[in-house]
Amino acid sequence: MLSVSEAQSLILEAVRPLPAETVPLTPAALGLVLAEDVVSDIDSPPYDKALMDGYAVRSADLAEGANPLAIIEEITAGRTPQRTVGPGQTARIMTGAPVPTGADAVVAVERTRLLEDGRVRIEERDVRPGRNILSRGREMRSGETILQTGAVLRPQEFGLLAAVGRTGVRAVPAPRVAVLSTGDEVVDASQVPGPGQIRNGNGPMLVAQAARAGAVPRFLGIARDEVGHLRALICEGLEADALVLSGGVSAGKLDLVPGALQDLGVRPHFHKVEMKPGKPMFFGTRPPSPFPSPPGGEGISVVPSPPGGEGRVRGGPSATAVFGLPGNPVSALVCFELFVRPAVRALRGEPEPGPRLLRAVLAEDFPYRTDRPTYHPALLSAGERGWQVRIVPWFGSPDLRALTRANALALLPVGDHQHRAGQELSVLRLSDEGI
Ligand code: AMP
Ligand code: MG
Repeated sequence: MLSVSEAQSLILEAVRPLPAETVPLTPAALGLVLAEDVVSDIDSPPYDKALMDGYAVRSADLAEGANPLAIIEEITAGRTPQRTVGPGQTARIMTGAPVPTGADAVVAVERTRLLEDGRVRIEERDVRPGRNILSRGREMRSGETILQTGAVLRPQEFGLLAAVGRTGVRAVPAPRVAVLSTGDEVVDASQVPGPGQIRNGNGPMLVAQAARAGAVPRFLGIARDEVGHLRALICEGLEADALVLSGGVSAGKLDLVPGALQDLGVRPHFHKVEMKPGKPMFFGTRPPSPFPSPPGGEGISVVPSPPGGEGRVRGGPSATAVFGLPGNPVSALVCFELFVRPAVRALRGEPEPGPRLLRAVLAEDFPYRTDRPTYHPALLSAGERGWQVRIVPWFGSPDLRALTRANALALLPVGDHQHRAGQELSVLRLSDEGI
């Protein structure tokens, strides 16, 4: 059976970044990966800029003992200086304003004293040229490349892009992820479950996971364990960049998902992974429908964007990555984090789609026996000497409540182990927030 890391490698080999699109710099673009090099259209600062409220002075004058100085004008931010500062002169200047010609330093107002005769005494000694001035083009020069393809758009990139006049950029878009729950026993959360029924917890959970991973999720509904209904909803899901199903993937009588997917042209890559919770876990790809799958072709054949073109047209032909997750909620959540989240990140063009495990010190003894590598709910915290992890009580794959007390999964190896406090374990973080 495939190991988790082998399965992750197969997924990452099959999934390619989506073609770039032009996206406006709205909050929806936060975290997207830039798909162009961005060049500045300005020098920044555009002039020698005062970094303090104070007085623009000639440093050589002060060195020669010229003090106090005559104030010739006041320059506020947004104004241009009208006069040249001559010997024995100074100009009152505000933070951000252009330094007038003649002056080569700014003395902070706190280091000066205004005299009754209207002149100002400079009380700072040894004023060097350039003091409290950011010279023109120091941050960037016109024509300089200031951001490169592959940069992640964070608030600081938004600010810099706006500063060089950009309201939109070429970026890899957020993938559209369709979520489909399956099972005759599954009813909507708004309903009171009848005998043998269970509410659809997985739908909202997987939609939220997809959003957190950086996708644009869409919930398709609950498919009955009946081929026709299942196929109709799968067809809708195959329009997305990725389709995530829960339930119906193991070997039970009504586990119709893998068969229905293959009937609809989804090529299976694997169907089982050596892990707990989980094990039945389907991954496949469906090539874009207008073009048949190349014989023996590997991976998703993403439609290339035309040279200089606007990339893929939304809803147009594009490959779909398909994940059939186990129905039990904890298994579904864990499999999403281990397999779907890296795929979403790869579709977004992120250079390190992960998942990255970190090493954490176990806080308390925890003897544990398992026959498959187990991802156990755990609570991670930043201790004085690095990460610390506590195991959270857990009653198995239907026990989702345990995960509300957890923020991580501790990876417990196969065998009968006396895990001791102080020992290191590999841990997968589920979120950046606390609990
Ligand atoms: P299955 O993989 O379809 O055999 O489902 C395994 C278990 O997960 C069963 O106990 C299901 O009732 C449960 N399950 C399946 N789908 C969901 C869902 N959408 N929400 C909560 N539990 C589910
Ligand atoms: Mg089922």
